[in-house]
Amino acid sequence: MTPRRRILPVFIPHMGCPHACVFCNQHKITAAPGSTVPVEPLEELDRLLNLPLDGFDRELAFYGGSFTAIPVSQQLAFLEPAAKALADGRISSIRLSTRPDAVDSETLARLSAYRVSTVELGAQSMRDEVLVQSGRGHTAQDVRDASGLIKKAGIQLVLQMMTGLPGDDDDGARYTARELIALQPDAVRIYPTVVIRGTRLAQLWQAGEYREHSVEDAVRVCSGLLPLFEDAGIPVIRLGLNPTEELGTGKNYSEGAVLAGAYHPALGELVRSRILRNRLEEQFSVLDCFGKTVKVTAPPNLLSQALGQHRCNAIWLKEHFHMKELRIQSGEVQQLKIEIL
Ligand code: SF4
Repeated sequence: MTPRRRILPVFIPHMGCPHACVFCNQHKITAAPGSTVPVEPLEELDRLLNLPLDGFDRELAFYGGSFTAIPVSQQLAFLEPAAKALADGRISSIRLSTRPDAVDSETLARLSAYRVSTVELGAQSMRDEVLVQSGRGHTAQDVRDASGLIKKAGIQLVLQMMTGLPGDDDDGARYTARELIALQPDAVRIYPTVVIRGTRLAQLWQAGEYREHSVEDAVRVCSGLLPLFEDAGIPVIRLGLNPTEELGTGKNYSEGAVLAGAYHPALGELVRSRILRNRLEEQFSVLDCFGKTVKVTAPPNLLSQALGQHRCNAIWLKEHFHMKELRIQSGEVQQLKIEIL
């Protein structure tokens, strides 16, 4: 049996970042649950590496900054204990995230020497004008170059992209997705833009110079992106920011750091549900459903996605196609089956 996997995250908020990207506030995004005091990353690393073994396959992950852009002596202060823990069997792998313009052969040789197995690259967009408006400070070509070097070094590549950045649109997001697919990453993460307190984007939004990327915008665009990646055999390992107390959850959502944008605890589920609605819409559009009772049978594992949250898919499809009734139920089928009764 494959051992269960657990991430041991060490957050290095903004370490190595040459400047603040307009949307980013890692102090809010990566705040430890219930803590207002920043955790010192080296202390946290030491604590995590000394946790009792628990039978999990444990992966150490440096997140929230630009790891390869911090001074080499500091990189080594993290990598040396990590590599020792790897040799001792206390962890099974190391991953880290960084910027595309902070990757070169020398850096990758260092990461390989310390047995880093995965590098996550914040690409965010493959349109240069979007990168400029987002204050990224690198180009799409930097993403191509860095990705090629990472793959050549035999290190796993994860690419992160965003939707709804200033100056971007649905076409731009699809372009970025196709460009990322061409780089053949091992996986991708998609982060629809969220307006977070204390960022330049929050100022632009408050001044009316940026229109927020709503949950509906994110669901619409991401329901087109996900199939592109999955059809290319590239897993999407995360869709949307992880909800935290600091960002806002449940009843204290309005007290969190999120001001606007595509922040939803079940964004991935909403997107998968929209994909099914799109498929049904496509199939209904070539059938005569007007005034009819239509039955859809879905495999049991897809029933809730086919219905949509609060039956929103069922309601939308029935109204859109002017059906008399739409019944969506589960049954012993491999894929969605439509019958007009
Ligand atoms: S998005 Fe990445 S590079 Fe930009 S400020 Fe945030 S952590 Fe740093």
